[in-house]
Amino acid sequence: MINLVLFGKPGAGKGTQANFLKEKYDLKHISTGDVFRFNIKNGTELGTLAKSFIDKGELVPDQVTIDMLNAEVEKNPEAKGFIFDGFPRTNAQAEALDCLMEGKNMMIHATIALEANDEILIERLLERGKISGRSDDQDESKIRNRFEEYNEKTAPLIEFYKSQGKFHSVDGIGSIEEITGRLSKVIEALQ
Ligand code: AMP
Repeated sequence: MINLVLFGKPGAGKGTQANFLKEKYDLKHISTGDVFRFNIKNGTELGTLAKSFIDKGELVPDQVTIDMLNAEVEKNPEAKGFIFDGFPRTNAQAEALDCLMEGKNMMIHATIALEANDEILIERLLERGKISGRSDDQDESKIRNRFEEYNEKTAPLIEFYKSQGKFHSVDGIGSIEEITGRLSKVIEALQ
């Protein structure tokens, strides 16, 4: 079993790469952003709550996100492993994830960051927003707020995972195939 965290700023390509890696390594992909958007689309209570934060480019509160993530893992008892995409994004979430893994005799094997600079990411997000219609991708001030949230709350997790010897990073600029290749090298070196 292998459990991975895909790490990186908004627009770094986590979702795109997770879609390839889940097929290649037979893993269950959990994207907290996708689960929130599914709830928003379906008008659930969780969706209404999440929307009020997502629309401002802010993080959804920890407990709400942690409970949701735990429920997603519980729904997949047969999974051969997980790719966590967009989770954890805070210290509290990273600690909750370790706790969840420990309770199931599982562990996070690696956190792999996709690196790209802000200006490229903003361009990519604005392009994506035209196609996806995601309102948080269409407004540069919301995008910048998401980066601020990342710098303030998520970037400290690099040290968290480095101290566990689990942090890896790959260049997130290049073709989709090239980047999948870089990620695969890291994953295969773990086994
Ligand atoms: P994403 O699809 O990963 O870019 O996430 C879109 C938005 O969903 C983020 O800007 C947050 O508002 C919210 N979100 C997704 N994952 C998390 C998380 N782990 N913690 C808090 N908020 C999250």
